[in-house]
Order: sequence, then structure tokens, then C-alpha cells
Amino acid sequence: MDSDFSMIEANLKEVRKRIICAAQSVGRDPEEITLIAVSKTKPIEMVEAAYQCEQRVFGENKVQEICEKSAVCEADIRWHMIGHLQTNKVRQVVDKVEMIHSVESVKLLEEIQKESEKRNLVSDILIEVNIGDEDSKFGLKPTEIVAFAEKISQYKNVRLRGLMTVAPYTENAEDNRKFFKQMKQLFIDIKEKNIDNSIIDTLSMGMTGDYEVAIQEGATMVRVGTGIFGERNYNI
Ligand SMILES: *Cc1c(COP(=O)(O)O)cnc(C)c1O
Repeated sequence: MDSDFSMIEANLKEVRKRIICAAQSVGRDPEEITLIAVSKTKPIEMVEAAYQCEQRVFGENKVQEICEKSAVCEADIRWHMIGHLQTNKVRQVVDKVEMIHSVESVKLLEEIQKESEKRNLVSDILIEVNIGDEDSKFGLKPTEIVAFAEKISQYKNVRLRGLMTVAPYTENAEDNRKFFKQMKQLFIDIKEKNIDNSIIDTLSMGMTGDYEVAIQEGATMVRVGTGIFGERNYNI
């Protein structure tokens, strides 16, 4: 697996460099941006390789993978749930993740509240926004965000931290700039509401194909998988 290590080391170096350049290109402090290494479908060895290159924040989209990997990987890894979360699986992850990026229903909120309260913890969450209005994507419509954000303040064991989106797939990152701008505006809108029980400081947007544009438009978290670990193979 030495070749994997070299690849991951080189890729991480490149991604980190590009994050710094993108931030500086718009006068932002690169320290404001957290890189989430998306290790879904990838083996533990690859997580370990990235860990050895000082990566501490990892994203997964399946509950099972978070459970398996968090059980054996270093305890100071911060896991982020970035994929669609079924209510019946909330209890398995609520105490294993630093943040849930994909909240988009009252049903899910209620379950996160219930399971967090049982464990006496407060779960940090993001609202998932379907910014491109795609049928294939999860997330609320932009027009639904403010009301949903206000509703979250009723749930004492859930803390709203901001917004997340998976922008439309494109070969040209510039195509998504308009969506990232809209996300930033929504982020400002909910921040200005000063909603009780919330700390609006996180805007999770940008993936391998478009994270630099997302940073230029205000992302505070970027989720990069392929750009660090290589292409995923779903047929194994
Ligand atoms: C897979 C995934 C990513 C990473 O995608 P890449 O294009 O491989 O960087 C980011 N966010 C979510 C929600 C994902 O499911």
C-alpha cells in the first residue's frame, strides 16, 4: 500500500495548496477553511495514510462505514456525516460524529433531538439545501430555509451551525459559482436572524471539481474525496 501512501500524500499537499491559493485570491484567511477528506468506499489503510499526513477531519456518507472506521481508527479523528441519514440509523452515529451535514426534515430533527438528549449531548447540524433544485438530490428548497432554521431552535439538544449543499455535477466549476453565491446569501440571511440556540459559522460546499470556486464564494468547509483518495469503485 506504499503507492497509496505516496498518492494520498501528494494529493493532500496539492489540495491544501489550492485551498490556500483560493482563499488568498479573495483576501480570505485560509485558516477559516476546514478540509474534510471524504473517505467513503475507501479502506481503513487509506484513512490511516491521510491521518499520517496530518488529516484529522473525515467525511462519510454511510452510517455503517462511520461505525466500522471509527471503531478502529485513531480516536482524535473527527467524523462528519455528509450523506443522507435515515431516522432509524441516527442512534448509531449521534455520538460518533462531530457534525451531521444532511438535515432536511422535521422527522430527522426529532430523532436527532431524541437520541442526543438520551446521551446528554448537543448535536451540531447543518441544513442541506438543494440549491440546483435537482429532483435527484436531497435537501430543502432555498425558500424553505429560514423557517426551518427557526424551527431548529426549539430542539434543545440540536444546534444549528449553518448550511450544506451538493452543487450540480459539472465539468466546469464556474457553472456552480452562481449557486455558491446563493448559498452564501442564504447563510447571511439565517445568520442575521440571530436564532436562539444556534451558532451560524459553517458553510459546507465545494467538492473535488469545484472547491476552489466554493472557497472564493465563502465556503468554510470543503468536502474532497476523489481529489485526495482517487476515483471510487462502487463495484467491489
Ligand atoms: C462523495 C461526496 C463528496 C466528495 O466528492 P468528490 O467529488 O469525490 O470530491 C462530497 N460531498 C458529499 C455529500 C459526497 O457524498
